[in-house]
Amino acid sequence: MKPDTDRNIALFDRARRVIPGGVNSPVRAFRAVGGTPRFVQRAQGAYFWDANGQRHIDYIGSWGPMILGHGHPAVLEAVQKAAVDGFSFGAPTEREIELAEAILALVPSMDMVRLVSSGTEAGMSAIRLARGATGRSKIIKFEGCYHGHADALLVKAGSGLATFGNPTSAGVPAEVVQHTLVLEYNNVAQLEEAFALHGQDLACLMIEPIAGNMNFVRASLPFMRRCRELCSQYGALLVFDEVMTGCRVALGSAQSVYARDIPGFEPDMTVLGKVIGGGMPLAAFGGKRAVMEQLAPLGPVYQAGTLSGNPVATACGLATLREISRPGFFESLSAMTRRLVDGLAGAAQETGVPFCADSEGGMFGFFLLPELPQNYAQVMKTDGTRFNTLFHGLLDRGVYIAPALYEAGFVSAAHTAADIDETVSAARDVFRLL
Ligand SMILES: *Cc1c(COP(=O)(O)O)cnc(C)c1O
Repeated sequence: MKPDTDRNIALFDRARRVIPGGVNSPVRAFRAVGGTPRFVQRAQGAYFWDANGQRHIDYIGSWGPMILGHGHPAVLEAVQKAAVDGFSFGAPTEREIELAEAILALVPSMDMVRLVSSGTEAGMSAIRLARGATGRSKIIKFEGCYHGHADALLVKAGSGLATFGNPTSAGVPAEVVQHTLVLEYNNVAQLEEAFALHGQDLACLMIEPIAGNMNFVRASLPFMRRCRELCSQYGALLVFDEVMTGCRVALGSAQSVYARDIPGFEPDMTVLGKVIGGGMPLAAFGGKRAVMEQLAPLGPVYQAGTLSGNPVATACGLATLREISRPGFFESLSAMTRRLVDGLAGAAQETGVPFCADSEGGMFGFFLLPELPQNYAQVMKTDGTRFNTLFHGLLDRGVYIAPALYEAGFVSAAHTAADIDETVSAARDVFRLL
């Protein structure tokens, strides 16, 4: 399309005059892959239409929340009804109790939960609570895991385990990340060494149990087992950041996937977002009663929010959780997601492209690598130029995957076998060009 008739280009030019980079969250800007972001006009089911009216099969789904697809009738009705009754009150509502009860029923490692408006807010509050409840300052995070953009978490590994992290963003003073220890994902020996050195001072270990912010990397069973054992041994809280995996990889979230193999497995605290809001600004953090009762107004750990437990967002979340709780929902979502990754792997094999893929529930990842990576450094061995060719080849054929090789993908209940097969066929064409 010529630039003067391409509305995506025109909108991007206009956006860049008034919004930094033209976007309100950086990955949307296509900086990693080049080209012009698609401005979304509307979406329905498994598709969205961009500003040129071009249809795309959507494998981002707002980065996870749209697990039912766009515009699910039951969710739409719940949101419309709630909006009529009021947008926000700053006073408690019955629906907040209903959503809290629904979340606790799905994720029984939590006795109590507090609702907030974003995953960032939930993760940041969980860390404050872990520190307040333990009276300790230090935290562990892993390279390649994203827990939102709170200052203390914008950090990369320092030199050696005795030193703590360095900020990854300007505007974050070194003092603010001095208590954050950054370790390699799936590295048991390093984990043990870190606990031996700092275990007595650790408030918590925060982890994406299946990391979706370095594409799709599972914490291995031995690694997860050691995380649990060491946290218990040293009195640090094991915090699962399930903002992405929560109610997405399984109805009971990633912790239920680990509990299949590690009997009785539970984290101490859980952070949720994305799916539980069904596409509205809603997130949550929760855990054991004794820890959660440290929060204001009961305890000394302060946390608050004008829009927390918003009536329209809670209606959207509740309707979404009701739909995904129907018998067989996750079985068919998982099967459709597997159809996609198996189809892509088959197409790659036919065309001789090095490829591997994995999925759990409605979340998937694939790599232009011969075997599944175990940590961030291995993920980043992907050939970026090849990935960009793949990305743009798919985009030109109406298939929208994440515009960065370190992001996971998402299938919704609205994706049909025909959508999956169309995607695989597009990928086969593009693999031939690689
Ligand atoms: C998306 C995400 C966050 C941040 O959530 P926001 O709602 O974008 O602030 C935190 N942790 C994980 C694992 C995420 O995927």
